[in-house]
Amino acid sequence: MLLGCIGDDFTGSSDLGNTLAKQGMRVVQYTGVPQGPADPATEAGVVALKTRSVPVAEATAQSLKALAWLQDQGCTQFLFKYCSTFDSTKDGNIGPVADALADALGATRVIVCPAFPGTGRSIYQGHLFVNDVLLNESGMQNHPLTPMTDPDLRRWLGYQTVGAVGHVNTEAVFAGPEAIRKALDAQHVAGHRLIVVDALKDEDLISIGVAAADLPLLTGGSGIAIGLPANFAAKGLLSPEPNVWQGTGGKCVALSGSCSVATRAQVAAHKVEHPTFEVDAVAVIEGQLKPEEVVGFLMTSDGVPLAYSSADPDVVKAVQADFGRERAAESVEHFFQSVAQQLVAAGVGGIISAGGETSGAVVLGTRATELAIGPEIDPGVPALRAGPELVLTLKSGNFGAPDFFAKAAAVLTSNP
Ligand code: ADP
Repeated sequence: MLLGCIGDDFTGSSDLGNTLAKQGMRVVQYTGVPQGPADPATEAGVVALKTRSVPVAEATAQSLKALAWLQDQGCTQFLFKYCSTFDSTKDGNIGPVADALADALGATRVIVCPAFPGTGRSIYQGHLFVNDVLLNESGMQNHPLTPMTDPDLRRWLGYQTVGAVGHVNTEAVFAGPEAIRKALDAQHVAGHRLIVVDALKDEDLISIGVAAADLPLLTGGSGIAIGLPANFAAKGLLSPEPNVWQGTGGKCVALSGSCSVATRAQVAAHKVEHPTFEVDAVAVIEGQLKPEEVVGFLMTSDGVPLAYSSADPDVVKAVQADFGRERAAESVEHFFQSVAQQLVAAGVGGIISAGGETSGAVVLGTRATELAIGPEIDPGVPALRAGPELVLTLKSGNFGAPDFFAKAAAVLTSNP
């Protein structure tokens, strides 16, 4: 293994794996820190943790454990992946985890770059933009867990780290890799270890990637990974064999617990031509609907059958008012987990899952611990091989085209 990645959430880790695989690396995503050794053919490993909103000490301890495992697999470079909207509180985890990893690796110049131009996230003069507005005007200021009220990444990260935060501006980034390297050196000499680096376009991320070829640690969104595979390829370290995707010959079904706008449109589009089963959240919470019933429907229906609890905001609000937000969420997630478990027992070949939290539950249900990254279905959403008999795809709420479910099934069942 060459590149070791530590992701602070599950679907974000898939997104990173997808970026690396598209650039030609053989990538495996792990559900937590694995027990045994990795397949030696793996070139990049992404350990997916759930550390975004847990207490600092826990996030740091888990990240260091992941680092130690990745070091044992022979990795020479490491990437700490967080959200491209820098989701964290003032006393959040990004700074402390980056510091702990830097200490462990003896890293002196640590890039901080959540830019992801493909999804409208850019950094200019140390400030994070979402499309044409600053982060704190993008809606992220209202996030229920990590409200982002300050777009200046240097200041926000400054609350989370002991040292003074550095900055490499666009002038250096536009001038190319050599200028970026020099600017990082200058920031190091000035006493900065965590260094926010501006990036507006993919070309900037590629230049940053080239400049970072010999740095032990980078941090950022999945965009920061764009330039890294080429460094390993240039050294002749990547397998020249194409990564051949083997789809499933078995039954492919879809599950959706996401209530996001994009997913609801995808569910509505899918209904037109495929059998669907509406999972009533109240029936789930009160125990009237059993997973067996949904599994029976999915395994015996033609086409790409879909079971969904996805509902409009007023329906969701009413359920939450009656039963509490957490109880509703947990019951529905647990239901989909049981459905996934029973689908695997019934010999399903492919599962398409919509929803970040829902997907976490679905993966738990399948008991898959290693997901080999396959071809991209829609931006940021790859097909995944979970085992010899099972393929998956995990989509977070707002990702995917309107015909995502059918498109995903076509990829999951495709063969060379
Ligand atoms: P997204 O990626 O779109 O945010 P998630 O799966 O992360 O989707 O979150 C959706 C949450 O809503 C989950 O906790 C899920 O269990 C819950 N949920 C799904 N359907 C309903 C429903 N009909 N009523 C209440 N909660 C629901």
